[in-house]
Amino acid sequence: MLSIRIEKTDTPKQLPAADNPLKFGTIFTDHMFIMNYETGKGWHDARVVPYQPVVLDPAAMVFHYGQEMFEGLKAYRAADGRILLFRPDMNAKRTNNTNRRLCIPQIPEEDFVDAVKALVKTDAAWIPTKPDTSLYIRPFIIATDPFLGVRPSDTYQFIIILSPVGPYYPEGLDPVKIWIEDDYVRAIRGGIGEAKTGGNYVASMAAQLKAHEEGYSQVLWLDGVERKYIEEVGAMNIFFKISGTVVTPMLNGSILPGITRDSVISLCREWGVLVEERRVSVDELYEAAKNGTMEEVFGTGTAAVISPVSHLRFKDHVLQVKDGGIGELSQKLYDTVTGLQRGQIEDHRGWVFEVK
Ligand SMILES: *Cc1c(COP(=O)(O)O)cnc(C)c1O
Repeated sequence: MLSIRIEKTDTPKQLPAADNPLKFGTIFTDHMFIMNYETGKGWHDARVVPYQPVVLDPAAMVFHYGQEMFEGLKAYRAADGRILLFRPDMNAKRTNNTNRRLCIPQIPEEDFVDAVKALVKTDAAWIPTKPDTSLYIRPFIIATDPFLGVRPSDTYQFIIILSPVGPYYPEGLDPVKIWIEDDYVRAIRGGIGEAKTGGNYVASMAAQLKAHEEGYSQVLWLDGVERKYIEEVGAMNIFFKISGTVVTPMLNGSILPGITRDSVISLCREWGVLVEERRVSVDELYEAAKNGTMEEVFGTGTAAVISPVSHLRFKDHVLQVKDGGIGELSQKLYDTVTGLQRGQIEDHRGWVFEVK
């Protein structure tokens, strides 16, 4: 069990008012978690402290060579008052996979989960209670050696911050239009696409701006080699329902292995829906949209859970998905995953962790 020192703030902030829309990532709670790492000493000095600025040497390696990683998960307040996390053990595992790729030291999985639980418990009053609200949890690690040479850092900070967030869909699931990007790429096999790190996000911004200018809300990324196979949509994984079969790009080294993706695949298989993880080409989508066999398209990720797609734009073609509405399977997956997360549906898979 990770030993965590808890230092509470003397000056708690005012909790957001009941009518605050809690715009994503704008409000932060009273406390944060920090733990330090030093080669030879390992991870040490785990503590929950008042939310405060991080003071670093301007030569700190994270500023120059991007050696950093992050995670994203949520805590939910169930109707009976319990505080629930959804598959935080998977975030811990993914942290270590990311860390391996980025030469950041491993963190014991139990310590990661204990740190999340300790911080959420300290700031439990900040978990919003209105329907579809939650407390977003952002763990991250930064390289802190004050050194301009290029090598992995010998010192790190593992930090967790919390942010109460409003409903992703204030008026219910809302289909989005997506732009299939054939110029910029997000990631390539052998690169860092399967690691959750800022470098992939900065690589995506120019295309995201371009899509916005064209009136599309998200970018659909193609593979970096042939620019032919679908990878992800924005910072979500993507699924297609074609002739009754659910198809999603297989994890190929440049796709981020989403926990929502994994949950959706498991649920579909339990329901007897055939799921194929394989390569999906733009040509196949084009055909399926044209001959009417493209039944549903949706993105998956922690923020939106399920994000239905109504239109796909590729070069000069606009493909409409069915009637542009919300598919039956998309809605069922949304209701089931959010029901499990909020304790409205009983969990028999070991996915829901209670914070006590
Ligand atoms: C985090 C992330 C996802 C979604 O992962 P979840 O675990 O489902 O939230 C998908 N793609 C990218 C690029 C991501 O960073």
